[in-house]
Order: sequence, then C-alpha cells, then structure tokens
Amino acid sequence: MSRTITLVTGASRGIGKAVAKRFAKEGHFVIGTATTEKGAELIDEYLHDTGGIGRVLDVRDTEQINKLFEEIESVYGAVQVLVNNAGITKDGLLMRMKDEDWDDVIDTNLSSVYRMSKRAIRGMMKARRGRIINISSVVAKMGNAGQSNYAATKAGLEGFSRTLAREIGSRQVTINCVAPGLIETDMTDELDERLLNSMLDAVPISRLGQPEDIAAAVSFLASDEASYITGAVIPVNGGMYM
Ligand code: NAP
Repeated sequence: MSRTITLVTGASRGIGKAVAKRFAKEGHFVIGTATTEKGAELIDEYLHDTGGIGRVLDVRDTEQINKLFEEIESVYGAVQVLVNNAGITKDGLLMRMKDEDWDDVIDTNLSSVYRMSKRAIRGMMKARRGRIINISSVVAKMGNAGQSNYAATKAGLEGFSRTLAREIGSRQVTINCVAPGLIETDMTDELDERLLNSMLDAVPISRLGQPEDIAAAVSFLASDEASYITGAVIPVNGGMYM
C-alpha cells in the first residue's frame, strides 16, 4: 500500500515538529517545512529514518507554495493530509499596535491557510479523499488582551474551516481545527513568567500542555476513524476554556 502524503507547515520546532514526527512514526510520507535552509535541514535530519523530507517555505509567498506543491506532486504524488500549523504572534494592545504587526500576523496565520488550502484541495477533490487540519488557538473563542491580531486570525480560520467544510464535504475531503491552550513551545517561552503563572491558574489540569498532546488530536483527525468529522474544532487546552 502506498504511504499517505502529509504536508506540515512550520515543522522545524514546537507543535509542527511533534505533528510531523507523529505522522512519520505512523508511516506517512511527511514533508515538513521551515522558513530557513537550516530549519529544513533539521527537519530532514529528524525525518531521515522514516524517509520524510524538509523543505523551505514561507507561507506568505504564493509562488513558493505553488513551487513546493509542484515538486511534491511530480515526485511523490498529491498531498493527502495538509496541516496548516505555521503561525506567529506580534502582541500588543490595539491602541499601540503597529499596522505592520497587524498585517504580518494576518498574512502569516490566516491568508496562508487560504493559499495553502486552495492549492491543496485541487488534488484532494480529484482523489475524492483528503484531510486539512488547521491549528487554531483557545484565544479564538476566549479572546486575550494584547492579541487582537492573533485572535482575529484564529477565529477567522475556524470560520474559514466551517465554510470550506461545506464546499468540499461531498468529495469526502474534511477540514477541521485543533485549538490548543497553553503549550510548551518557543511561543510560550516568550511569555513573561508572572503572566504565564497567572494564566496557568485558569487551567484545571494545572500545567502547560506538550506539543505531543496536540499531535495526538491532529493524528486522530487525519485517521480513517475521523472520516465523519468535518468543520469541527477540537479543544486541547487542559480545561482552560470549556
Ligand atoms: P513556534 O514554536 O513558534 O513555531 C512556529 C513555526 O511556524 C516554526 O516552525 C516557524 O518556522 C513557522 N513559521 C513562522 N513563520 C512562518 C512563515 N512565514 N512561513 C512558514 N512557516 C513559518 O510555534 P508553536 O507554539 O509550535 O505554534 C504552532 C501553531 O500552534 C501556531 O499556529 C500557533 O498559533 C498555534 N498555537 C500555539 C500555542 C502555544 O501555546 N504554543 C497555543 C495555541 C495555538 P521557523 O522555525 O523557520 O521560524
């Protein structure tokens, strides 16, 4: 049987790396992306034993996206599972937010999902099978002071997913989100310790989640067992929001 071809954006570290590793372990052929050559080499290294590969991709760049899909399709076959994981934060209260910080977060976290999904569904619709999994955030529903740009992208991608689910469901292509809470990665390392501790007070499970906790939910959504789930958001947040 041929291996499932799975593309994970932002696989150089954090959640994307855990997702790529999990799929590789499950036997998928994984293409993981990073923004730099060094990051792509790192992905090549940790996927080496399973035959997966690392590639450079800036999800803000349509030309790079098209090139990568063309390479994957011509050498390996159409992408069957797409995980839109790449994301950034540029926090600040709205009163002081710079226009470029608003634009950059929207472009990287939300418009990227439009670009990637639009390109990926071509092959999925043809194959009458496919999975798109978007990494949202607990703040899509909760809101978080200082993250109006970030929360807007995550709420936006949940609405996008529900809409695309209606457009592509009849072809057995599903699109869902996983909404992490506080997960231990470089992104949460940037948080001030006092702020982090006060946020943890609101987490019934009383600890940060691990990237592997998110990878487990993503893996489930890509599995055959999840073929009747679409347009859904799975919260993985230790009870931070329920
Ligand atoms: P991270 O450790 O900061 O990693 C971010 C990843 O995104 C890196 O692989 C980075 O690549 C990639 N990336 C950044 N800008 C990119 C661009 N323009 N094009 C392509 N790739 C780009 O983040 P993380 O914590 O694992 O977060 C992953 C996802 O989970 C994000 O969507 C984030 O919003 C979401 N999330 C995280 C948390 C959390 O607590 N950590 C909570 C909720 C949601 P380089 O290494 O090359 O820079």
